[in-house]
Amino acid sequence: MSKDKEKLEALAAMESATTHQSEVPTPIAKPTYEPIVDNSPNTIDGYFTIDRSELPQGGIFYPESWAFVARCPEAEEVAIFSTFNPRDQIGIMKAVDELIRKCITIYDQDTENKISAINICDFHKIYFFLKLREVYLSNNPILLDAMCSTCHNEYKSNLFANNLQFPYPSDNLISIFDGRVFHFDFETHKIKVHIPTLKTSATLLNMVNRVYTSKANPNQKTSNDKQLQRFTKICYDKIFLLIAPILFETGDESFAEIAVKYERIHKDKELFELYLEVANNLHFENYESVETTCESCGALEDTEIRFPDYNKMFTKSASGNKFTKKYFG
Ligand SMILES: [Zn+2]
Repeated sequence: MSKDKEKLEALAAMESATTHQSEVPTPIAKPTYEPIVDNSPNTIDGYFTIDRSELPQGGIFYPESWAFVARCPEAEEVAIFSTFNPRDQIGIMKAVDELIRKCITIYDQDTENKISAINICDFHKIYFFLKLREVYLSNNPILLDAMCSTCHNEYKSNLFANNLQFPYPSDNLISIFDGRVFHFDFETHKIKVHIPTLKTSATLLNMVNRVYTSKANPNQKTSNDKQLQRFTKICYDKIFLLIAPILFETGDESFAEIAVKYERIHKDKELFELYLEVANNLHFENYESVETTCESCGALEDTEIRFPDYNKMFTKSASGNKFTKKYFG
């Protein structure tokens, strides 16, 4: 109980200390972790703020009043990752969502409300996940193999969340975005598109996963057979899977509501084409490479990002743990 109280006090302190940030995107800063509970012997209970300027795209995809707070994951919370089959993409993505949901908190400084981390943009998932990994395994950054095209030197480069590079939206796109929803005003139609979040993505993924699983195990009776039958066809419709993430307007819709909306749009050729265009262009995921600096000649290189398998993401290499090193190092 006192531990919880301590956490709440830390959060309250942080909340009052956080001020409104500028909306102008600032250059990507080096990661700085400032434990709020700095009298604790380690960072396990420490909360830290993720400054708005550190956020991907300078935080423009979040309301200005939102402040991001994170805590270090606990050993049991990350232990689950080592149990995953690397091919179990859905299981892994669920675990990533769960970790982000537990360890990241958002405060709306205008309303003083706590906002669930499921409202984080879906395309920032990797960023927040890396942040949590960095604070948990502070001395084991992900190492990228890099090669200099100028002097052909091979070198290793650390990958931090803050090194990830994200595309910026155009000014026109920013001008129709209210912090959560794009208000497109096309000549023929007005379209509202809620930015894809962990929540909207889970709404879609859960149903698709249920349908695919029931197809794979046809003999397994499930209690929601009717729902599964109803959505089986649409879950195999590749165009639906492409457009569905941008069909949310409030971000709280159910799968059924999205499916109905899709069917309605599908009947209007012009509207359907507009949605298709938006779906094909509304992508803000990080690039697949990061900029690294050659140790030997200082040249800047684009280096491809390669993550360890997720089941090894939180495993300290034997040589990285001072106690196990004796036996496994
Ligand atoms: Zn070089």
